[in-house]
Amino acid sequence: MRIPLFSKGGKREIDPVCDMQVDTGKPPGGSFEYQGTTYYFCGPGCNRAFQREPEAYLSGEKKIQM
Ligand SMILES: [Zn+2]
Repeated sequence: MRIPLFSKGGKREIDPVCDMQVDTGKPPGGSFEYQGTTYYFCGPGCNRAFQREPEAYLSGEKKIQM
């Protein structure tokens, strides 16, 4: 379990598309499970982009600059 960076709110994970921190309790872009790991997104656009090309984002080949 990771140590939360902020005392308020729930657990946070990094959006793999844009590297933003997302509250896993209420991810604005929802979540998506890929190969047994759940990823969380800052917005629906990042979620859709990840679902199209998950490998590209996980490998770091692709990034969206926010
Ligand atoms: Zn994002």
